[in-house]
Amino acid sequence: MTTGHSKQVNLAHELIHCESNSNGTNNPNKTLNLIDPDTGSWEDLTFEAVRTRERENLIRNEQGDKDRALSMGDK
Ligand SMILES: [Zn+2]
Repeated sequence: MTTGHSKQVNLAHELIHCESNSNGTNNPNKTLNLIDPDTGSWEDLTFEAVRTRERENLIRNEQGDKDRALSMGDK
């Protein structure tokens, strides 16, 4: 689990989802079976969740925050 991020990162995370919703690219049925870094277990994560974490890290880097843990594995 990743902790210790700024309020700007929370806002950026939600704005990334907003952009996906606006573009029509947030498909809840498009999933990947990966290890959820927050739980450590294999789960079907939405592509949107995985992509958002990756993009969120760009903002974290800009803000000097620690990277958010990314999903791993491929069953
Ligand atoms: Zn999210």
